[in-house]
Amino acid sequence: MKITTMPWVLALCLCLLLPFGSSANAAGKSTKNHVYEWKLAESWPEDLPIFGGAVDKLIKYSHELSGGRLKIMTYPKEHHGKAFGVLEMVRSQQFEMGHTASYYWKDKDINTLFFTTLPLGMIAPERYAWFYHGGGLELMQKAYEDHRVLAFPGGNTGNQMGGWFNREIKSLDDLKGLRMRVPGLAGEVMKELGVRTVNLPAGNLLDALESGTLDALEWVGPSLDLGMGFHRTARFYYTGWHEPGTELQFVVNRAAYNKLPEDLQNVLKAAMRLAAYDTYIESYHASIENLAVMQREYPNIQIRAFPTDVMRALRKETLKQLQTIADTGSPLTREILTSLQDYQRKARVWTRISDQAYLNNTGL
Ligand code: CA
Repeated sequence: MKITTMPWVLALCLCLLLPFGSSANAAGKSTKNHVYEWKLAESWPEDLPIFGGAVDKLIKYSHELSGGRLKIMTYPKEHHGKAFGVLEMVRSQQFEMGHTASYYWKDKDINTLFFTTLPLGMIAPERYAWFYHGGGLELMQKAYEDHRVLAFPGGNTGNQMGGWFNREIKSLDDLKGLRMRVPGLAGEVMKELGVRTVNLPAGNLLDALESGTLDALEWVGPSLDLGMGFHRTARFYYTGWHEPGTELQFVVNRAAYNKLPEDLQNVLKAAMRLAAYDTYIESYHASIENLAVMQREYPNIQIRAFPTDVMRALRKETLKQLQTIADTGSPLTREILTSLQDYQRKARVWTRISDQAYLNNTGL
């Protein structure tokens, strides 16, 4: 159920009309037929494709798996106005849970950075293997312990594209002075290569590209880029390096979770896991379809890979910045980073001789 316009007062009245609040379990009443009503805050605007779809899936699966006993109502950004306040609102139990991205909290707590993606890091299947079987999920709980929430994967965008450029990048020199929207760690890396990074809200990006305020930008990939219209202005579309498997995030208030009966805790965990994986494959599908549209309707789009000297410089600078984070972080920072890097090294041996070899050898 989407709620964007219901006033707080009406929501409050509806809550007061209910026979029990979510404390029924704590009060010792029977939980068998009790309906738990949870509120979820999204970092995204209403109806954002893929991202908002992850929440719709969670609501559907929670409802179905619980026989209607776990009812989650979602509040997109328009309702609470705090895209970057979701963690705090869930921590304070204004909402029982949220759907957001872990790297939004890196300025508050650097350890949260690692659970979304890293430049030159793992692709989605490798990252999911790390989360669910390689110790990633346990490390994520450690990182979020002081924030009083539990954290879970929330859907993967798949490999993101390196961005739209209004001119071709033929060498490292072409990056010098380029004005580009590229946030996060990748932005810090590109800044060292001479890029003038600019941060602008999503709604202003196309105008900025058209007016020349920006020369380049990265967003997601065909799944979401087509609707943004960047291809109408910038025709060079570069393959990715900086967000190889961006995982969104569910955060759950720990006290609220502990009040759920055990079977509903399991329902919630299963619904989140299913919604996350479904979102990944939906995103993959959307990119397949949208890339086909782009190539059919906009034949001027030129897909390129960054040249060797650019990739070499990006790699060198990324490793340098990760080392600085490890050196200046806490023991937990180093534990998480070491776990990610060790797992990636091991996983990549298999990825190379399985998927990569298959693609290279078959030529299909
Ligand atoms: Ca991006």
